Amino acid sequence: MGKIRIAKDTYLVGIGVSPGIAVGEVSLLDQRPLVDKSLIEAIEVEAELLRFRQAIDRAREQLQKIKQAVSRQPHLREHLYILDTHLLILEDEMLVDGTEKEIRAQMNAEGALTQVLEQLRALFDTIDDEYLRERRSDVDAVGERLLRILTGVSERTIGNIGRKSLVVAHDLSPAETMQMNRSNVLGFITDKGGRTSHTAILARSLDIPAVVGLESVTSMVSERIPVIIDGSTGVVILNPSEKTLNEYLKRKQSYEYLEHDLEKYRDLPSLTTDQIHIPLRGNLEIASDVEQAKKHAAEGIGLYRTEFLYLGRSEPPDEEEQYRSYCEILKQVEGEPVTIRTLDIGGDKFVPELNLEDEANPAMGLRAIRFSLHEERLFKIQLRAILRASSCGHVRILFPMISGVAEIRACKKILCDIQAQLDREGISYDPDLAIGIMIETPSAVMIASLLAREVDFFSIGTNDLIQYFLAVDRGNEHVAYLYDPLHPAILRALKATCDAANDAGIEICICGEMAGESLYALVLVGLGFHELSMNPACVPRVKRVLRQVSKQDGESLVDKLLLLSTSKEVSTAIEKEMRSRLPDIFAQPLI
Ligand code: PEP
Ligand code: MG
Repeated sequence: MGKIRIAKDTYLVGIGVSPGIAVGEVSLLDQRPLVDKSLIEAIEVEAELLRFRQAIDRAREQLQKIKQAVSRQPHLREHLYILDTHLLILEDEMLVDGTEKEIRAQMNAEGALTQVLEQLRALFDTIDDEYLRERRSDVDAVGERLLRILTGVSERTIGNIGRKSLVVAHDLSPAETMQMNRSNVLGFITDKGGRTSHTAILARSLDIPAVVGLESVTSMVSERIPVIIDGSTGVVILNPSEKTLNEYLKRKQSYEYLEHDLEKYRDLPSLTTDQIHIPLRGNLEIASDVEQAKKHAAEGIGLYRTEFLYLGRSEPPDEEEQYRSYCEILKQVEGEPVTIRTLDIGGDKFVPELNLEDEANPAMGLRAIRFSLHEERLFKIQLRAILRASSCGHVRILFPMISGVAEIRACKKILCDIQAQLDREGISYDPDLAIGIMIETPSAVMIASLLAREVDFFSIGTNDLIQYFLAVDRGNEHVAYLYDPLHPAILRALKATCDAANDAGIEICICGEMAGESLYALVLVGLGFHELSMNPACVPRVKRVLRQVSKQDGESLVDKLLLLSTSKEVSTAIEKEMRSRLPDIFAQPLI
């Protein structure tokens, strides 16, 4: 490959999905297989069908082999289900029958498969929910494996990278990520990917710094150029100058020291210096995240995104299956609360028998609670399962994306009906089960004082709140620069909601990504949040910050921030304050 000239200190910013700093040289993974789409003669159809079926058998063997190797590594065992998902995709009707149908219409196997993969991708793109949308990457990974077999491109050898390096790839499948040899892969960066892709989840489990979603980094780098990646901030620096390199080596050292030091705080309470307890809870996407939450001493689960239970299947889980899953999680958290959020998907995409229409504007369509109220039968099944589980442990129920009082009243009415039904059947549940709502829409913020009369707690979903308040699609990389948690409008929205909750004497929690950002911890306490729920890996750092600040300090900082006009002014003021209070945690930024 020709040498690409890259200016010194070329900064790129992607999505930091696994924290830590890595410094090293690039190992560029080869590109995707080139597919030759061509028409075939009728007489060739049978042979082409056979070639496709043999490719499926070969892919199955490869995945089984990886599974065997992975099951010997205890830290990865909990992720084996990803390989099972890939094995299931190999049997998926849409994929297999769809491709065979194209072959019968006289398209060669790789062309037919590529066409079907494109159709599936288009289907996934219509899904509003980020988590579900990103499951597309599992289908892509299986598709690519099959195309490699069909085109004779050998498997990428990520497991055999022979030198310590930073892996750069267009995309990495979860199976490839699992095969990474931690002693040689210092970190990785990819063009594609998002915060909740399986690859991102695995990178966190493997403790490998990673930045994804860089769009075109593979076309910018060549083999062995030096790179720095900061998986906490998403910053990638190509060809760093000596000055930058030295600075980042120092940061790496202090990050590693801090990580080690955080262990000391593991069993200490999350108390501010003025003795206010701010529980730090874990966000749960897949059941195995409970382990992570326990590892980092999160106080229970502040947000259980139940969508994952409905994932990639044609039939939704029945009451019994849900009940058992919820009880299993409750058992694992040993008496700590688990906030179970009812289904938050953007339509019927994974419940095909409901046959709902496609939506032009899914983010504002029939998603979250609107979907549940529309599909009352499914909603009731989930509510019964949650109520029954409430007798196994400390459950709180959370309704997503409530935009008006009538909506929460409708939910409470259905919940009440189910309680009466359970009473009649002699089935036990917690009669004092706390009821909460996600505050994610501008309308909910504006009427927070009215909503506060209806429920026991609020949980602010800043991921959506910012999207709807600032009119910025949270999944669109072209407007990502406008997605700004420190916009003065967002600060005011958070303040108004906290004030309404505190005036009404109800609990207020925050469970969007903002909650796990240690730089904002003092501001969030100052705004009046009672608890923070976050990716479990963020808990130690946030706790360390909280133990060194007071609520009063937070309130004075918030008073100052509310006088500022731009998010730049707000972020500068927060950074200045936090650097002066906790210089060992918040180093001076380099860009
Ligand atoms: C949010 O919107 O902030 C949130 C926590 O919910 P989700 O990311 O699942 O939409
Ligand atoms: Mg949300």
